[in-house]
Amino acid sequence: MLQQRTIKTLTQAVGVGLHSGQRVELTLRPAQPDTGIVFRRVDLPEPVDMPVSPAAVVDTRMASTLGSGDARIHTVEHVMSACAGLGIDNLYIDVTAEEIPILDGSSASFVFLLQSAGIALQNAPKRFLKVKRPVEVRQGDGDNLKWARLDPYHGFKLRFEIDFAHPAVDSTGQVYEFDLGSGNYSRDIARARTFGFTKDVEMLRANGLALGGGLDNAIVMDDYKVLNSDGLRYDDEFVKHKILDAIGDMQVAGHPLLAAYTSFKGGHALNNKLLRALLADETAYDIVTFEDEKQAPAGFAQLAPAW
Ligand SMILES: [Zn+2]
Repeated sequence: MLQQRTIKTLTQAVGVGLHSGQRVELTLRPAQPDTGIVFRRVDLPEPVDMPVSPAAVVDTRMASTLGSGDARIHTVEHVMSACAGLGIDNLYIDVTAEEIPILDGSSASFVFLLQSAGIALQNAPKRFLKVKRPVEVRQGDGDNLKWARLDPYHGFKLRFEIDFAHPAVDSTGQVYEFDLGSGNYSRDIARARTFGFTKDVEMLRANGLALGGGLDNAIVMDDYKVLNSDGLRYDDEFVKHKILDAIGDMQVAGHPLLAAYTSFKGGHALNNKLLRALLADETAYDIVTFEDEKQAPAGFAQLAPAW
């Protein structure tokens, strides 16, 4: 049987929120089978739980934000991406502020935390959300057209294309394809950082956003070049970060997807719209398990081997 996974012990990190600039403590804790991934605000008078689901995503303007009542947790996508990359099904993610710490702007620190805690196999079959027929969402038209799409696939692979007319970006690869079953998430995707432009940062700060952002946790560009003194971590770090984000945004479905994801210039908003469109059509998906590991997609049993 392909089993569900959690972590063996709790693990903690401290950082700042990208937008709020606030100090935030993050604690990752093991969870029982079929718990799913549950975010929790532990700083409120009554702790508020936020189990992930597409409907719980209440804002996608700068990052993916979960909400429950008045409580919010911003920027959940990088830690969600790390969970997907390591095949984690069940986890509590406690935070002491309304934002996940940005750490180095990628998911590498979350991968490190999860692996340091150790991956535990659980006595319950891992449930996948299997896409049965194509689902597509679009926004804009002409030069402003953006779209995202899911097609049936026995595994989880992604193809992302960006189209930034910027000298530092358009000289790099703007299309990337990644198959999670390759087992190369930590090496090829996790280290890709979020990116931004100085002219946007000034505007965002004037609006009380990106207060925690800087060269330590983002690729920052002026009109011509990358300002980080050590340059890029991957030649095609920009599009790889979009893949990292998409993996995290798709994990919000509640179960790992069996699908081929494709996006042209998409982002958090389209990703969430895509999941909502998928789940709105009961004929478009099934929940499946693999009693026989050999029937599971290649590589999935080896994601983050337990030790
Ligand atoms: Zn991101």
